[in-house]
Amino acid sequence: MITKPKGTTDITGNESILWEYVNSVVATMMNNYNYEFIRTPIFEASELYHRSVGETSDIVQKETYDFKDKGERNLTLRPEGTAGVVRSYLENKLYAEPDAKKYYYNGTMYRYERPQTGRMREFTQFGVEVLGSNDPIVDAEVISLQYKILEALHISNLQVNINTLGDQESRNNYRDALVKYLEPHLDCLCEDCRERFKTNPLRILDCKVDADSEILKNAPKTIDYLNEESKKRFETVLKYLDLLEIDYEVNPKIVRGLDYYDHTVFEIVSLDNCETKASVLGGGGRYNKLIKELDGPDSYGIGWACGMDRIINLLKEIDLYKDVKKQVECYVMYVSEEEKLHALEIVQDLRLNGIVTECDNLGKGLKGQFKQADRLNAKLLIILNSEDLSMGLVNVKDNATKEEEKVDISEVVDYVLGLL
Ligand code: AMP
Repeated sequence: MITKPKGTTDITGNESILWEYVNSVVATMMNNYNYEFIRTPIFEASELYHRSVGETSDIVQKETYDFKDKGERNLTLRPEGTAGVVRSYLENKLYAEPDAKKYYYNGTMYRYERPQTGRMREFTQFGVEVLGSNDPIVDAEVISLQYKILEALHISNLQVNINTLGDQESRNNYRDALVKYLEPHLDCLCEDCRERFKTNPLRILDCKVDADSEILKNAPKTIDYLNEESKKRFETVLKYLDLLEIDYEVNPKIVRGLDYYDHTVFEIVSLDNCETKASVLGGGGRYNKLIKELDGPDSYGIGWACGMDRIINLLKEIDLYKDVKKQVECYVMYVSEEEKLHALEIVQDLRLNGIVTECDNLGKGLKGQFKQADRLNAKLLIILNSEDLSMGLVNVKDNATKEEEKVDISEVVDYVLGLL
């Protein structure tokens, strides 16, 4: 038997109901915050990720799915959403528009990781990117949007861990201080970190292996190396978050793994479930250098991504969602071929009037149809028989109270709508 590739998953049954529910909450919230849906390709030129996510990142060094197509083009399955959105923004010259662009996406990403709980090779992220504004109001808006989506999903005990890398000058000052501090301790760090020391020392703070070492715990903090302007900017972001009643903690260890971040960086966790790195539900930050690095104008960007698979794993543990089941509103029952023709019409009529409706498609007898209706939690049964039909009537039965009523066939939709 052919099985699914390692690190991928099938979403079926109650999980897919949860999935659709989360998608609908996400879409509604994004719409309320006036974010526009953007769909970019699942594969892009490999160069895009090398130049944006960064040559020295784990993602690009170890985790991308790279391939050549039949035209010998180097392509990569997208490992994250930001690069594609920024590429589209530049390619379509949307920076020429008078307003900042506010995008959201929701799609699969691909990273060749060691699969474990909350870490897949194919996974889904929804996220936002705001391009063209450097106002701290946007930092606060995007953070609160992620927080409020998770809150709307009833995920409890949320906390934003927030930090700032400051502008380029502050980041450089910090980098120098970090290098000076780490140099005498290099022997105690993992092999990857010794390599990172040469290429991108900030990334050492993000290391999954050395995360708990005393050396990293005592490392210099970005916040102590900010210039006045960067410091003021960060204070403004925090002030706005206070105003929006977002629960945050300034955490100097958050630097985020990708090359393109500056200023605000953050992650959101649920404190009920925060023992592992896989408990981070989402994160992001500002990337004011990225647009220029991708040959665009000197502009601004900020964004975040949230892991759908991790959210679904969490929701499955919440009592509220334990009993989610597909609920059919009407189940139409028939036996003879003549009844079947009426059923076909009635089912379509109900469905097109927004009523979730099902009928038998396996030639079951009435007993089997009653059982299927129960499995589908049908609220109402519409039972057809030739005698009623000859008088233009159908039998509508409440599947819980067992009360029934004969209804004129032309009025069945209105009658059902009245009951639901
Ligand atoms: P990142 O793009 O690495 O900042 O990740 C943002 C969010 O996406 C994380 O907080 C996770 O919720 C989710 N995520 C990242 N990588 C994976 C993965 N391999 N499998 C499942 N979810 C992931």
